[in-house]
Amino acid sequence: MSSNPTQTFDVVVIGGGPAGAIAATDLARLGRSVLLLDRGGRIKPCGGAIPPRAMEEFEIPKDMLVATVASARMISPSNHKVNMPIENGYVGMVDREPFDEWLRERAAENGAVRCTGTFDRLLRDDDGTAVIQYHARTGEPEQVRARAVIGADGANSTVARQCIPGAEKMRYVFAYHEIIKTPETVSEAVDFDPTRCDVYYQGKLSPDFYAWIFPHGTTISVGVGSAHKGFSLRQAVAELRKDTGLDQTETLRSEGAPIPLKPLRVWDNGRDVLLAGDAAGVVAPASGEGIYYAMLGGRLAAESVDAYLTTGDASKLKLARKRFHKDHGRVFWILGIMQHFWYANDKRRERFVMMCKDPDVQRLTWESYMHKKLTRKSPLAHIKIFFKDTAHLLGLIRVPKKTDG
Ligand SMILES: Cc1cc2nc3c(=O)[nH]c(=O)nc-3n(C[C@H](O)[C@H](O)[C@H](O)COP(=O)(O)OP(=O)(O)OC[C@H]3O[C@@H](n4cnc5c(N)ncnc54)[C@H](O)[C@@H]3O)c2cc1C
Repeated sequence: MSSNPTQTFDVVVIGGGPAGAIAATDLARLGRSVLLLDRGGRIKPCGGAIPPRAMEEFEIPKDMLVATVASARMISPSNHKVNMPIENGYVGMVDREPFDEWLRERAAENGAVRCTGTFDRLLRDDDGTAVIQYHARTGEPEQVRARAVIGADGANSTVARQCIPGAEKMRYVFAYHEIIKTPETVSEAVDFDPTRCDVYYQGKLSPDFYAWIFPHGTTISVGVGSAHKGFSLRQAVAELRKDTGLDQTETLRSEGAPIPLKPLRVWDNGRDVLLAGDAAGVVAPASGEGIYYAMLGGRLAAESVDAYLTTGDASKLKLARKRFHKDHGRVFWILGIMQHFWYANDKRRERFVMMCKDPDVQRLTWESYMHKKLTRKSPLAHIKIFFKDTAHLLGLIRVPKKTDG
């Protein structure tokens, strides 16, 4: 796009990941003039697991999936392995490079103007209108005016730090993964199944989160997260690859990025700027799931900004956070407590993995992951789980010493 400081968009969306691309698509479909600004040039480090609900709600074609997963296997500190098959569903795996590009292109097909450039700062015109200053990889800074701005520029968001008080206090888990080639023949020496996600709850691999092996068709993501500054994520991944026999396969990429630990208390500036996705800290605690919530955040931001532009009432910008909390606040709260309690030490991790053997736990885990809601058909199961969970928490259920992996 050529430099044109006099150009004004209804909305400038900063960041073209899942949050920004969905926000831009929805706003363009509503007839708003939209600039989608993304710096480009980097593949987002990500395990790429998405639930069927994301596919339905955001109209993602199945051919975007590089693998579909039929079960998850939880591995405890004592190497106890619990398989959790998925009934009536799957976990979808996307590769972020083509996935994000497809989302951005769909925004453009719907009328959003795409622009490759890095947001530098938000200025104000004489009449108070937001002016977005950005620069292309080579070239002078350019400026556009925006009646409203959506900050969807990910964790460590520049928009959030400049415009939203308190954003600088966001806390993170740091995640690192290696993309490796899937071995052509999987021998007994390799502990890997291309239709299964492995999740390792072992203090040696992560003192406060988990490590994973996710299949991606021709590649595999082997990763780990931790908020502990001194902990070596690289070493943990090396150890996991060695333990599973995946240390002999070719490494294609090694990369890391922060994952926000908790949604921000305030997502807007009370005037014309609203955050979405990782920029607002909206990643599920305990699982680190962020793609679905980023897309949802983008949609809610688009609705709120549209309401603001229609009415001129800046309080409409608060709708995004309110709606998110109404539908998902309780789940995030429970997941936060889970992470805090069950990921604290190996003794608890052992119990946590044992708990995953329970068919009720498995059913509710998959149900809430895949559909992002709990069916009300089985209130008894919820109560049963609550009591079992409490019994585990208090140590009333014994953990078997023998491993059956
Ligand atoms: C290692 C790792 C593994 C993960 N695994 C999973 C998983 O399996 N499943 C899951 O659901 N979630 C996972 N997540 C979380 C998930 O990746 C994020 O929650 C999700 O990508 C958030 O989407 P977003 O659009 O908010 O931000 P991002 O995807 O980070 O997109 C932000 C966009 O903004 C652009 N941008 C940044 N700064 C600027 C700027 N100054 N100017 C212009 N553009 C800018 C970037 O180029 C990028 O395109 C993982 C995260 C990590 C780090």
